[in-house]
Amino acid sequence: MKRVYLDYSATTPLDERVFEAMKPYFTEKFGNANSLHCFGRDGANAVDSSRRRIAELLGVKPTEIYFTSGGTEGDNWALKGIASAYSHKGKRIIISSIEHAAMLGSAAQLEKQGFDVVYLPVNDKGMVLPEYLEKAITDDTILVSVMTANNEIGTLQPVKELCEIAHKHGAIFHTDAVQAMGSVPVKIRDWNVDLLTFSAHKFYGPKGIGVLYIKSGIKPDKFIAGGHQERSMRGGTTNVPFVVGMSEALRLALENLEENSLKIKKLRDYFVKSIEERVPYVVYNGDRKQRLPQNANFAFEFIEGESLLLRLDMAGIACSSGSACSSGSLDPSHVLLATGLPIEKAHGSIRFSFGKYTTKDDVDYVIEQVVNAVNDLRRLSPLFSEFKGEKKYV
Ligand code: PLP
Repeated sequence: MKRVYLDYSATTPLDERVFEAMKPYFTEKFGNANSLHCFGRDGANAVDSSRRRIAELLGVKPTEIYFTSGGTEGDNWALKGIASAYSHKGKRIIISSIEHAAMLGSAAQLEKQGFDVVYLPVNDKGMVLPEYLEKAITDDTILVSVMTANNEIGTLQPVKELCEIAHKHGAIFHTDAVQAMGSVPVKIRDWNVDLLTFSAHKFYGPKGIGVLYIKSGIKPDKFIAGGHQERSMRGGTTNVPFVVGMSEALRLALENLEENSLKIKKLRDYFVKSIEERVPYVVYNGDRKQRLPQNANFAFEFIEGESLLLRLDMAGIACSSGSACSSGSLDPSHVLLATGLPIEKAHGSIRFSFGKYTTKDDVDYVIEQVVNAVNDLRRLSPLFSEFKGEKKYV
């Protein structure tokens, strides 16, 4: 059976070249980067050069790069580390209502500790307008965090403007760039953000490794107590092969960003156009322009997203309803509800995410399968029959 992977926003396959770069650090160069002998030095040199390379690719200083276990840890550290280190200045923290579970979960924990967390609304396209932040921010706000790009509907946020507003009020600004890194330009210095999270497995690197960028002068509390790794800010033996893999993956992603993004966007646009032409009663969730090139998200009216997902899975197609991190839950997506989409449409929503290995053949196959599956499911849908019945009397 043909298999098509359209869930690149959940994770990406490891690029073969990244795997080759990592291999020696599992076997002959296995030393602990903190050991003083030559085996350790092999590891330490690899970590140092990877850190320098990542910093250079991003236009920041190597000392501003902190290795983490991925996006979830980076988000937790940014939020909790800043909250505890700056709580003497205030207790107010502002995040958007469409953040990833890593941010929302951390914010909920901070609320229990007495922090006052404000959740910014979004417009119907999933955009945090600067005026929403202007309205919510006070001079005792210690941190503002708004993601660079949303993981469900791909909306790109006006990070630079939001950061400017935060700074005007003396607040620190963090952005979760997990979905954006490697897919759209992430301009850390130009945006002037104070902290930024990303994760290697979203750009063809290994799972379980990421970076929290912390601008010089910003001092969150340490997140993992332990040894002196990461300049004593994050204990734990450094995962040398993964660090090497992430730096190679980032190099490849950024060197080929424009070319890959254009190719992916072309396929995505073709898919969106074809679905809108061939399937009636669909809503395209999110913004058409301010959007990640790899993301398409549709609400198919009168059917359950889960049923469609299963039908597509039976045809060998991988896509998702909501994000992979909330797939254990049957609750409708908090992101779609925040955009004002009614619950029943949010339930019928599916995310298709494209990547550098997606082909036109794959997309054509998926279009056919989606059209057939939606037609079949609607034929069985009492809601659709009712709707058609009602229409007769209009
Ligand atoms: N933030 C966003 C926007 C994400 O999409 C994800 C993963 O899907 C994460 C954070 C968590 O990253 P990780 O899987 O590396 O923990």
